[in-house]
Amino acid sequence: MLEQKNYQFYNNQIIFIILSSLIPGLVFTILAWMNQIVTGALVWYALLILVSIWGIILKYQYESKAMNPDELSQWYAKVTIFYYTIFSLWTLLFILYAVEVESKLHYIVIFMQLGFSVIASALLVIDRKIFVPILLILLLPLSFYFFYMDVLYGYVLAVFNMVFLGILLYASNNTYKLIQKNDYQAKHDMLTGLYNRRYFLEYMEKMIIRLNKSKKIAYLLLIDLDHFKTINDSLGHEIGDQVLQSVARRIQNFTEDKHIIARFGGDEFTLLSLEYKEQEYNSDDAYALAKELLDILKEPYRINQHRLHLSASIGIKQITASSSNGNEFIKEADIAMYEAKDAGRDGIILFNEHLAKRVQAHHETEQKLYFAFKDKAIKLYYQPLFDKNKVMIGCEALVRWKDGDTYIPPDIFIPIAEKTGLIIDMGYYLLEEAFKTLVEWHQKGMLIQHFAINISVKQLLVDTFSDHVEILCDQYLSQNVREKVYFEVTESVLAEDVSKIIGTMDKIKSLGIQFSMDDFGTGYSSLATLRQFRSNYLKIDKQFIDEVHCNDDDHAIVSATISMAHGLGKKVIAEGVETKEQLEALCGLKCDLIQGYYYAKPMPLKQACEFIKHNYKAC
Ligand code: C2E
Ligand code: CA
Ligand code: CA
Repeated sequence: MLEQKNYQFYNNQIIFIILSSLIPGLVFTILAWMNQIVTGALVWYALLILVSIWGIILKYQYESKAMNPDELSQWYAKVTIFYYTIFSLWTLLFILYAVEVESKLHYIVIFMQLGFSVIASALLVIDRKIFVPILLILLLPLSFYFFYMDVLYGYVLAVFNMVFLGILLYASNNTYKLIQKNDYQAKHDMLTGLYNRRYFLEYMEKMIIRLNKSKKIAYLLLIDLDHFKTINDSLGHEIGDQVLQSVARRIQNFTEDKHIIARFGGDEFTLLSLEYKEQEYNSDDAYALAKELLDILKEPYRINQHRLHLSASIGIKQITASSSNGNEFIKEADIAMYEAKDAGRDGIILFNEHLAKRVQAHHETEQKLYFAFKDKAIKLYYQPLFDKNKVMIGCEALVRWKDGDTYIPPDIFIPIAEKTGLIIDMGYYLLEEAFKTLVEWHQKGMLIQHFAINISVKQLLVDTFSDHVEILCDQYLSQNVREKVYFEVTESVLAEDVSKIIGTMDKIKSLGIQFSMDDFGTGYSSLATLRQFRSNYLKIDKQFIDEVHCNDDDHAIVSATISMAHGLGKKVIAEGVETKEQLEALCGLKCDLIQGYYYAKPMPLKQACEFIKHNYKAC
């Protein structure tokens, strides 16, 4: 398929070629008239005007209508004929006047042939199918002419002319190849040979303009491979690259050039469908196409000696006439794709109204959160922690956001803060607040032993995080107070850049702060992760605690977790303990620390202070 930019290029040349034909053509016609050999020249000039009008119509068509790829290639075929015709007219003029030696018009037509061959080789250089025939049409008759003069210098000129033709063809061809290469590199992904993100977006913007005029419908697929990182991490980037190439080939063979496909980045691919009339479009068809593609992508891959299985999550977004731009459509396909990931991967989700509303709500929360943070409406609450002897020994700092009269739970806004990056500033602020509270309590003699602070994976991934923690430690916490601080991190950290995370954790540990593995059992836990994650505590998630007293399976899981943790020299915290029965079951299993509504809910600073004072003797 010939690309958009080339159409534009050829469209741009039309007026120049017309003007550089009409003006010298007129001069020639006047000269012919002065020499009373006017009839042929007039007929010729009339033909030139007609062809020029056709050229202008073609230019108008290109500029007034957003053409689809089929229409564009039809238009291009006509423009090609236009260029052949207008240059052939000069050859016609040459044939008519080459024998006119009396008034020396033959010199002019010879010059014109040479001049136009230079124009053609310079201006029409980006398509070989255009410039090669035109150069032949212009220059071959000239060589015949020189040859048939039947004199020595005629033969020499014929040969020179052929050499000149050869040089022009060679030079144009070189430029053509260079332009093609640059053009290819600018538009393609070097690894897979598919279109790149930039070209895809450019194409999409043009398609949106077309759809806005034609009221047709297309759809966009965003295809993201599942767990591709694991392949890269375990088998190396070379194998990873080969997998991406195989995936690209499969998508290419599947679409057979019908749809526009691109590697959007990393392990993400995009597909832009054909344009359908409203009555021909059915979202089930888009789904069926995605399903067929997904099945193809899931067939096993044989790469070197490896046999690999892959799946993908696919988001689909319908593209209709609207004021949205390409990036907005991509964003919505992306949302649908993430929805497919959240639903367990290996699936397809169509972006719909429900998703759109959720995104809108999400967006609003995002905006509000930013201002809430600025206005200091984000505060810390503290939930006490008890040991197995029912003695309060510490607490966990939990963030709270009161938006007007309603509390927005951290489960909602922390992921948003993580996505927008606000978690970095917010986390730093909360850490400082928590440190200030801890030091204040210690100054008042409330010597709590375990002070838990939740830390997001995103914070741990920031290079400067451990430096920030060090600055705060130096500012607020003496060595013995630092040892009471536990950073709670979920085991999902180990799905990220493990060596980086472990490095940061080690630096923080060297400051005296310790770690707890939060939500244990819900995420990526494996025995290997346990070993890597050198935490002092495991915090068993509430879902295992809820029925620990009445469900044999949960009881067995909690029991095994506690034994294993103790075996590894770690202590265990049970969170979400709400009843006496749960507490007794946990005490029976020798759980070290208990946290939950049974003892106390999270409470604001003042109330937490009172609570600690009240329980102080026990501390
Ligand atoms: P988490 O760290 O697992 O925190 C425990 C959650 O369980 C808290 O919810 C707490 O209020 C709740 N909880 C404690 N005891 C009970 C109970 O007996 N029954 C019930 N039903 N719930 C109980 P919360 O405060 O809504 O926090 C939810 C999650 O948000 C936290 O889970 C943590 O992952 C995150 N989070 C909270 N504060 C922060 C923070 O300051 N920074 C970061 N990065 N994340 C935070
Ligand atoms: Ca926690
Ligand atoms: Ca938890």
